[in-house]
Amino acid sequence: MNKITTDILIVGGGPAGMSAAMAASGNDDVRITIVDDNPRIGGQIWRAELGKIKSVEARELITLLDQQWITIADNASVFARDGNSLLAETPSGKIRIKYQKLILTTGARERLLPFPGWTLPNVFGAAGLQALVKGGLDIQDKRIVVAGTGPLLLVVAEYLISKGAHVVAICEQTTNRKLDKFALGLWRSPSKILQGISLRGKVRGIPYYRNSWVSAAHGESELRRVTIEHFGTTADVECDMLACGFHLVPNIELAQLLGCKIANGYVAVDEYQQTSVWDVYCAGEPTSIGGVEAAVVEGRIAGFAATEQIKQARSLFRTRKKTTAFAKVLHQAFELRDELKTLAASSTIVCRCEDVQYGKLTGHDDFRMAKLQTRCGMGSCQGRICGAAVEFLFGWKDRSVRPPIFPVRMENL
Ligand SMILES: Cc1cc2nc3c(=O)[nH]c(=O)nc-3n(C[C@H](O)[C@H](O)[C@H](O)COP(=O)(O)OP(=O)(O)OC[C@H]3O[C@@H](n4cnc5c(N)ncnc54)[C@H](O)[C@@H]3O)c2cc1C
Repeated sequence: MNKITTDILIVGGGPAGMSAAMAASGNDDVRITIVDDNPRIGGQIWRAELGKIKSVEARELITLLDQQWITIADNASVFARDGNSLLAETPSGKIRIKYQKLILTTGARERLLPFPGWTLPNVFGAAGLQALVKGGLDIQDKRIVVAGTGPLLLVVAEYLISKGAHVVAICEQTTNRKLDKFALGLWRSPSKILQGISLRGKVRGIPYYRNSWVSAAHGESELRRVTIEHFGTTADVECDMLACGFHLVPNIELAQLLGCKIANGYVAVDEYQQTSVWDVYCAGEPTSIGGVEAAVVEGRIAGFAATEQIKQARSLFRTRKKTTAFAKVLHQAFELRDELKTLAASSTIVCRCEDVQYGKLTGHDDFRMAKLQTRCGMGSCQGRICGAAVEFLFGWKDRSVRPPIFPVRMENL
């Protein structure tokens, strides 16, 4: 087993983690290590860019990171804790990383909800399909419906079009009123307004339905068409692919494992991004879903605070206030509507890993009982997909996080 000893350990190499590392490196005396489970750092938004690096901010950060003495352990999934060390699995074995202070920047994942046909081949998460295309999947001339909720839908639609797809419809479940309120609430974030206008321009001409969602996907061996609900009417639309995601869910499992307090589904932090566990900080999506600007500023505050550069941390409080306001607006605008709770039929699979149908879950009091009776959430994704779905469908929260938080090879246990 390889061993690393570091002063500051950062788990997650996305915008928050990279920014935390840069801020921490302002204190010359500290050794910094970033661990990320992907082959390249950059997180969800910058990872695929690293080869060509479009974003100026990402380019600057990467150049600066290269110039610092920062250890980067990629392809390494942190799966457990052992005292003041974390254990990570890599393709070549296990590493033990001993730290003084820990910064958790583990990001978020997409929320998927069950509806009849959602497990058919060619039905993807919206951001999931984008990630596959970034990884090389060919979508030239494919007819794609983009559905679900959140600002990512437009980002994904624009991206798919730029790669040669025909986006035939965009279905946003939220209401006109909430979307209008969202647009008005952006006055504090002019960059978001410009981004929104530019995205709308790029998808001009594509039917964009509000108050609309996909209620079923149809096909024998693969997707052929989807049923779209819109203001109480339904219509079938032929397509080759469906990209359907319902905003994001924070990755809080590692924080839970370390005993950090969780409030309203997020890791609770103080003004220095410090969690309820004194040597553990947290930044980015696990503390609130607020986009890349929020991740960057929170990461910087955490990096400064963890290395006792308090004045520098405090100087960013005002900037963070703006990004926190955006996170709130985002949350209100894209709250899920109750109708989505009624889409799954009794035979619709909810837990894909263990093949558990919706009908088998009704009648249980909580997630624990449902798990014991049906194995829902006990498969290889460990409830990362169905956990968020059953929380929405039944109001069940999964509080039991145990090591390993990711499936690991027997020899590493
Ligand atoms: C699938 C997806 C696609 C997105 N695409 C876009 C987009 O195109 N445009 C946009 O504006 N926003 C996008 N977002 C939102 C975007 O994630 C945020 O705006 C921003 O990247 C958040 O930065 P972060 O550093 O908090 O998290 P992330 O960028 O998610 O970085 C967290 C990193 O931590 C790693 N990690 C998590 N747990 C562990 C562990 N236990 N061990 C090791 N590594 C771990 C993750 O793999 C990831 O690389 C996307 C989000 C998701 C979930």
